[in-house]
Amino acid sequence: MKALTIKNLSKTYSNGTVALKGIDLSVEAGDFYALLGPNGAGKTTAIGIVSSLVNKSGGEVEVFGHSIDTALEAAKTCIGVVPQEVNLNLWETVGNTVRNQAGYYGLSGKLAKQRIEKYLRALRLWDRRDHIARSLSGGMKRRLMIARALVHEPKLLILDEPTAGVDIEIRRSMWEFLREINDAGTTIILTTHYLEEAESLCRHIAIIDEGTIIEDARMSDVLRKLQREVFVLRLDRVLDRAPQLSGFDARLRSDGELEVEKGPDYDLNDLFTELNALDIRVVSLRNKANRLEELFMRLVENKQPGAAA
Ligand code: ADP
Repeated sequence: MKALTIKNLSKTYSNGTVALKGIDLSVEAGDFYALLGPNGAGKTTAIGIVSSLVNKSGGEVEVFGHSIDTALEAAKTCIGVVPQEVNLNLWETVGNTVRNQAGYYGLSGKLAKQRIEKYLRALRLWDRRDHIARSLSGGMKRRLMIARALVHEPKLLILDEPTAGVDIEIRRSMWEFLREINDAGTTIILTTHYLEEAESLCRHIAIIDEGTIIEDARMSDVLRKLQREVFVLRLDRVLDRAPQLSGFDARLRSDGELEVEKGPDYDLNDLFTELNALDIRVVSLRNKANRLEELFMRLVENKQPGAAA
């Protein structure tokens, strides 16, 4: 069963900004899925469309088989959203914030009461239930938004930058909580630009950049790919063809340099030993960053702690 299917989704804002250029995504039920990308990549736009806060320009979205065009209410019932910006009524109490949401989804009074207690306790806010939202710390406000998103027990929880600006201790306890509800069966999609967060939590990762999906793979495959390094070697002479090396893929570039890809189980000493045996001497060597690594470097540079706590 697919929790989410997105086909050829596009968005052009009224000012002409093209935020999504026809993206495809498919999220399996039960998955823990990261949508990773630098600021302005289109993450918030994508989840805004899925949660019907933003109108799409083209394409299709289905949530647990319900099209947002033809079965919007059914699709919405399946989703809980935790937005990036704090959008709480700051004068409302913690308890009422969650109660109002339960009312919005038509939960009976008794069930609402149970759920409010269940999620406020789980998110360590039960003691604060009579306090107004304004009195909460940044991390607590974020946890309250998670409790609010969960009160109707959606099958799909979407969190936009859940831990931006949250200190490390709270971040880790939120991760633990998200793992628990994922283990209990809730599909989770989160957007983040913290690679560490995606790596620690998610089993699948899609990387979006400038409105286009540039990577969509299991996390383990992406990490394996990142472990492969490519070096460019300048040799003392130009070879006719690339040498056969065990443990390394080598190819000759048109400029005569040798490009060598190193797997995680080999090191550069092995490479030099092999080249020595073939009487090939290396004049200089440089590291060739691959496209994904370059993107990750940029993502890390784009980290903006302190935003919207
Ligand atoms: P991300 O969440 O990855 O940071 P966004 O989806 O917020 O990216 O933004 C994608 C692009 O769309 C950016 O260029 C952003 O400036 C633009 N954008 C977002 N919201 C609006 C809007 N309401 N009006 C016009 N442009 C917007």
